Amino acid sequence: MIPAPVSSRHSQTKRTGRTALCRLPLGLLGGIMLSALAISPQSRAQEATKDESSYAIALHGGAGTITRASMTAESEAAYRAALGEALIAGQSVLKSGGTAIDAVAASIRIMEDSPLFNAGKGAVFTYDGRNELDAAIMDGRTLKAGAVTGVTRIKNPILLARAVMGQSRHVMLSGSGAEHFARIQGIDLVSPTWFFTDRRYQQLLSIQNHEKGAMQLHFDGDHQFGTVGVVALDQAGNLAAGTSTGGLTNKEWGRIGDSPIIGAGTYADNKSCAVSATGTGEYFMRATAARTICALIEYKGYDVQKAADEVIHQKIAGLGGDGGVIALSHSGEIAFSFNTEGMYRAKLSSQNPTPLILIYKD
Ligand code: ASP
Repeated sequence: MIPAPVSSRHSQTKRTGRTALCRLPLGLLGGIMLSALAISPQSRAQEATKDESSYAIALHGGAGTITRASMTAESEAAYRAALGEALIAGQSVLKSGGTAIDAVAASIRIMEDSPLFNAGKGAVFTYDGRNELDAAIMDGRTLKAGAVTGVTRIKNPILLARAVMGQSRHVMLSGSGAEHFARIQGIDLVSPTWFFTDRRYQQLLSIQNHEKGAMQLHFDGDHQFGTVGVVALDQAGNLAAGTSTGGLTNKEWGRIGDSPIIGAGTYADNKSCAVSATGTGEYFMRATAARTICALIEYKGYDVQKAADEVIHQKIAGLGGDGGVIALSHSGEIAFSFNTEGMYRAKLSSQNPTPLILIYKD
């Protein structure tokens, strides 16, 4: 549901500011104009992104060994189309004055319904041939968050995570309890067979043949992560982040990764940024990756790209982990950072409304 346009507090401040300016004596007005000219280009750019009609959105569809050589023209076109469709769905929410949370949910839902990504319909298989899904969403304005783990019947886990955030007293629900809550909330449940895709099943068989059934931590079958994530900034200046995944191929014993863990794979705070991660979740959990990026901005004054690079290239890489993040600052700057060969990623903003869709490192 897209709520009615929100009138932001700072748009009111702006209007009051303009009226007050008209009443000033001419000499004083000249002084104010001169000092306005002295504002640095950077602060003017930041001002511009805070304009009352400004918004921004970025998403990822997983990272990994994604090289030109490993893609056909058809598969590249299919990924580009799916990423573009998801981005536009979020953009239309933001453009019409909807919330960042609504934009995140709308974009992720589209990627969950696509068999291309390791989320919803395209989820990877566990060691014993099941699909166990995780998702989380966070509102940067209130720091409210919702997450679900190990669900096997929820068509769109991001919608259930959102219901947990908005309609329950809890932050994280798991397994059959989460599915019971979904029934109460009228959220779509499907048969576990809904998630079967031959491509993902073959990946499981290939890993199990190769590893002789042992837990394989790092990669799914074609050495890629396909988790999806979205970060958005709405016209009222509020941030949100969301992530949805099937986890890692061949995962065992009810394993849960970083995606639904608030602060590891997903985080949003209006004071700093919104982040969604993809990669080997064990490392992102140990590094509390998403929250650390926001903390570097909030407490150390890093810009968003520097903060994301620090966590991916120093912290995660230092632990031996791999993957990437998308991050969006409260002033609308978007960062992509990954230490793999590629990451499906896309972004746009009110200043640059044409989607930029990228796959490879270069
Ligand atoms: N981060 C996810 C997990 O560890 C996997 C992925 O990004 O594809 O569950």
